[in-house]
Amino acid sequence: MNEVIILKYGEIVLKGLNRSSFEDVLIKNIRRRLSSIGEFKIVNSQSTAVIWPKNEDADIDTAYETLQKVYGVVSLSRALAVEKDFDKIKAEVPEYVSDVLSSHKTFKVDARRSDKKFPLNSPQICVALGEVLLDKFPNVSVDVNSPEVVVMVEIRDTHAFIHADKTPGAGGLPVGCGGKAALLLSGGIDSPVAGCMMAKRGLEICAIHFESPPYTSERAKMKVFSLAKKMSAYCGRIEVFVVPFTKVQESIREKCPEELFTVIMRRYMMKISQKIAQKNGCQALITGESLGQVASQTVQAISCTDAVCSMPILRPLIGMDKTEIVDIARKIDTFETSILPYEDCCTVFTPRHPRTRPKETFVLSAESKLDEETLVSDCLDNVTSVVISQF
Ligand code: ATP
Ligand code: MG
Repeated sequence: MNEVIILKYGEIVLKGLNRSSFEDVLIKNIRRRLSSIGEFKIVNSQSTAVIWPKNEDADIDTAYETLQKVYGVVSLSRALAVEKDFDKIKAEVPEYVSDVLSSHKTFKVDARRSDKKFPLNSPQICVALGEVLLDKFPNVSVDVNSPEVVVMVEIRDTHAFIHADKTPGAGGLPVGCGGKAALLLSGGIDSPVAGCMMAKRGLEICAIHFESPPYTSERAKMKVFSLAKKMSAYCGRIEVFVVPFTKVQESIREKCPEELFTVIMRRYMMKISQKIAQKNGCQALITGESLGQVASQTVQAISCTDAVCSMPILRPLIGMDKTEIVDIARKIDTFETSILPYEDCCTVFTPRHPRTRPKETFVLSAESKLDEETLVSDCLDNVTSVVISQF
């Protein structure tokens, strides 16, 4: 039996002249995911990719799982590839669909014929194959309006493909077709979700993590790497930059009013992140902020942190409730890791009464006590990075 995986493209189908460049990025991403699973041939035509295992070792089950996490793919099916000969189709299809038809009551056959030279047209294929299946499976009847199972026959350029299952793909646009952005990645629930949401819109992601040893532990950093690894199932490879932030935090605590600690710290995070982002070819920053969630996420606090950045700051969670964010975190499988109880640099030295509406003039005057140039360049000189990927 010749089994393949059929991937249907999502939104890129709607792209105009530069559609092929979107397709190239998608195929490259698919190829990279499959390379660790086995040898596969990828055939791209008519808004569809057909994935052919090249040998017995190419694990089609794992490939099917993995490809459900590729942005740009709207649906996937496992399909039987048959020669374009209707007698062969009739002979091979019943066995291929027997598991699914034996366990259901109604079905219909649907056919698409992109090869118009095929001797039967689509309605004729549906009727003829429907009869064969009714004959072989007395437990099912045809229901054209709301069948439990749709047996799909696609007559394409080289083969006929038959499938009776369809799994939703991850949707969105291929990672890397929309530029690159740096995600501020903490160990919490929100930032991994924010990163995946922007990767879903086509951005390649790198991550920046601020640590404050000895106030934050090695294990907290390892947790962030585990999150990046989980994200890489969707986002592809992620370079994680780790910024030693202790001196900045200690200096702010020593020299600035306690209630402005958080906003000043966040301004430093943004300034440093922007420098790392620029150096690494990014056009934007991403954070997991959600309006009103904590003191530093009021409109006033956000505008105060925005003021230090010239790059756009993307905040895909800004209007979402925690429950909605958690739903996505579960779906992308980062939730269980995110809730492991390790400290984050944002939670050390947290003021008892942070300013929720910081005035920029007060902030600027407090910041003038800090040696910004030395603090920032110290951080940048000591950044380390690791590339994290599941593939
Ligand atoms: P998260 O669940 O992502 O940690 P949060 O609700 O805890 O978010 P904050 O701690 O205020 O909110 O952080 C807001 C955003 O700032 C985070 O979503 C993340 O983008 C960034 N951030 C926070 N801490 C760090 C850190 N240690 N390193 C890098 N970015 C961070
Ligand atoms: Mg946090």
